[in-house]
Amino acid sequence: MTKKRAIVTGGAGFLGSHLCQRLLAEGFQVTAFDCLHTGRLENFNDYKNNPDFQFVKGDVTESVTLPKAHWIFNLACPASPPHYQENPVWTWKTSVLGAMHMAELAKAWGARILQASTSECYGDPLVHPQPETYWGHVNPVGIRSCYDEGKRAAETLLMDMHRGLGLDMRIVRIFNTYGPRMRADDGRVVSNFVVQALKGESLSLYGDGSQTRSFCYVSDLVEVIFRMMSQETGFVGPVNIGNPVEFTVLELAQLVLEMTGSSAKLSYHPLPGDDPKVRRPDITLARTQLGWEPKVPLKEGLKATIAYFKAGLQA
Ligand code: UDP
Repeated sequence: MTKKRAIVTGGAGFLGSHLCQRLLAEGFQVTAFDCLHTGRLENFNDYKNNPDFQFVKGDVTESVTLPKAHWIFNLACPASPPHYQENPVWTWKTSVLGAMHMAELAKAWGARILQASTSECYGDPLVHPQPETYWGHVNPVGIRSCYDEGKRAAETLLMDMHRGLGLDMRIVRIFNTYGPRMRADDGRVVSNFVVQALKGESLSLYGDGSQTRSFCYVSDLVEVIFRMMSQETGFVGPVNIGNPVEFTVLELAQLVLEMTGSSAKLSYHPLPGDDPKVRRPDITLARTQLGWEPKVPLKEGLKATIAYFKAGLQA
């Protein structure tokens, strides 16, 4: 029997590379597509010699040539605020044109596409925790808008293509995720704090550290993405995927210091514009529709993440 092919755009990224690995383990032929802006070839090290694995370099904002696939996971886009704000016009194009190009391919092939959307759809939320029915509180012209509005527009496009053209699609809204294969210079809070603590540099708190986030370990996230794509119940989402256990950024800093045994200090910096004050997913829908909930508590996930960065710093 010939194997089914899955394409993962953003496949060389943190999340994408874990998803490729899972798909190979599930018996797929996998094509990772990535422009290597934030993705890295070394993320493929665990499976780069697998004959079912293929890497194609390219940019989803341009017209792309890819082998026909049954499934497309559209993950391409820098996800860390400093990286997506570096070239905001390209970020917007990656989100919107990228979704358009990949959805058009899916439609032409009769393939299924999963769009990686984001908790940023809720902006700086006035409803807490955030259910999927909340329309959000997003600044359309701020420094985060290229990502937030880009991802929102991509959701709109896929929904319209689903309703109007019968596109077989799924939408997941990914909340803060962390784990091995994040870049040391990713810029997001978990990698920043862990790397700073390991180097004995002060941990950079933006604002007073009272803002909250809910951190999901990468293996839990990959599991629910796979479930969402596999199920045949007609459930298309959008569905929140993330860990609903909420921490302040200050609590995270203290936990990282405790777990690394670091005597690094805390340093306080201005809060970036439009930084959401609170964030926590309501995952009722994922629980009921997909029978999923996260299994890895923050301490356990941090342990693996710290070990990963420690090994990288010693290499
Ligand atoms: N943050 C921080 N120090 C850092 C990086 C981030 O205090 O070195 C804060 C940031 O202001 C935000 C939270 O941590 O309130 C999560 O930031 P991150 O960039 O990880 O993701 P976001 O959820 O904002 O996209």
